[in-house]
Amino acid sequence: MTIENMPADAATKVLPQDVQMIIGGGHVDAADGQTFEVVNPATGEVIAHAPLGGKADVDRAVVAAQKAFDGPWSKFSAAKRGRTLQKFSDLVKKANEELAQLESRNVGKPITSARGDALAVGFIFEYYAGAANKVFGETIPVAKQPSLDFTLREPIGVVGLIVPWNYPINMASWKLGPALAAGNTCILKPASLTPLTALRLGELALEAGFPPGVVNVVTGPGGTAGAAIAAHPGIGKVAFTGETTTGQEIMRLASGNVKKVSLELGGKSPNIVFADADLDRFARESPYAVFDNAGQDCCARSRIFVERSVHEQVVEAFVAATRSVVVGDPSDDKTQIGSLVSMKQRDRVLDYVALGREEGAELILGGEAPTGDAFDRGAFLMPAVFDACRTDMRIVREEIFGPVVAIIPFDDEADAIRQANDTPYGLAGSIWSRDIGKALRVAKAVKVGVLSVNSNYGIHTEAPFGGYKMSGTGRELGMHAMDLYTEIKNVFVDLS
Ligand code: NAD
Repeated sequence: MTIENMPADAATKVLPQDVQMIIGGGHVDAADGQTFEVVNPATGEVIAHAPLGGKADVDRAVVAAQKAFDGPWSKFSAAKRGRTLQKFSDLVKKANEELAQLESRNVGKPITSARGDALAVGFIFEYYAGAANKVFGETIPVAKQPSLDFTLREPIGVVGLIVPWNYPINMASWKLGPALAAGNTCILKPASLTPLTALRLGELALEAGFPPGVVNVVTGPGGTAGAAIAAHPGIGKVAFTGETTTGQEIMRLASGNVKKVSLELGGKSPNIVFADADLDRFARESPYAVFDNAGQDCCARSRIFVERSVHEQVVEAFVAATRSVVVGDPSDDKTQIGSLVSMKQRDRVLDYVALGREEGAELILGGEAPTGDAFDRGAFLMPAVFDACRTDMRIVREEIFGPVVAIIPFDDEADAIRQANDTPYGLAGSIWSRDIGKALRVAKAVKVGVLSVNSNYGIHTEAPFGGYKMSGTGRELGMHAMDLYTEIKNVFVDLS
């Protein structure tokens, strides 16, 4: 579907506009009236102006969220929270094209990917609609008798949700879904580069019937608005997705009132392919596992470990498959890789490409900015494949967050495990082998939170997602996410 044949109302919504924050059920500007430009990174155009929110706006949102928590929201039964989430899901699914257009223009991602992202958000809310009345306590046979001991699962209160720019609408939904199902009120802060879909979600939440103040959306820079959320004494929990260094800062800020903290951070995920694997399938599917979303994916399989005996064959097939990936205009249905999120991000990735060469890795494909009318004003970059890499190289150790992959040979199972674990990160990974015993031995030995065998598919609405080591703490998605948004209260009753 192109912009010309979209429903009229969806087309209007994606035109350049001045957007406002959602606080206490109303549309508001920043307290000091300041705004910032929102840019389409594929064209360089300013597509909107958003409020430059700061501490004063976070304060306003906390007051509104606490009022809702103590007031109308506390009267919602778990079942009613679930029904409201289901309505939210329905509205998000109905607004799929509009949300996808906003996301594609704001992030530079292909419209087909953005449609899939927005659809996934509908399914997330549907899942947590069902979860709302399925979280309950236990009765415990404590030693002291006669008694009754039981637990209650209670919402935390006002929670802060800080999300990044790579999958803005998805990261927002992963947090909003369980937070709302558990009965919390929320202050969502999107990344400053990509505020548009979060603001639209805030409007749809109101339309779905969440009382004013249950879902607030504050836009503004991380260093001010984000830091104010992380440090605010009126916020009981902060859930964050973003860079590891930012996560560390959030932990420090949150310590003031001993906030609960969950962090989904960076990654440098291994993709381990043994000689006995279905090598054609590996080569066909693996470019997408690292270059999708222009490589700006915390789970990107950005380190490929290949068993030495098939190294040449695998590299050749992987490069051939990468050549066929279509880089281009994000609004074109045929495009598989759009632009990066900003020129700044592209420059950062180009610096890593130069660094890889200096470190002695062999750049065997891509790594240059494409030229021509379609590309000149956007942050485009051709997928880069480095061969002959080692785990001590910075391009192998550091999260590049761009379309760059490093290929590293290994000798045997033990060597594959050792090299795969030689990283400060531990988010995701894949193992390819027809020997199920070997695949499972390696799966157990690799220190990551999300692992796939003979697949690069690792994210499921129903299953836990999160990292080991410096990739984070806590598990989102599935019923595990409900633990992040509930307190457990133990009640002991003396029956004597
Ligand atoms: P970022 O850390 O720069 O920003 C993320 C969010 O934090 C933004 O909303 C930003 O405004 C805010 N922020 C920045 N400084 C802050 C501060 N001092 N206090 C409070 N908030 C602050 O990350 P990014 O560049 O937007 O996103 C890319 C990163 O996100 C990558 O490292 C990627 O791996 C990670 N990521 C992780 C996951 C995961 O689930 N593990 C998923 C997606 C992205």
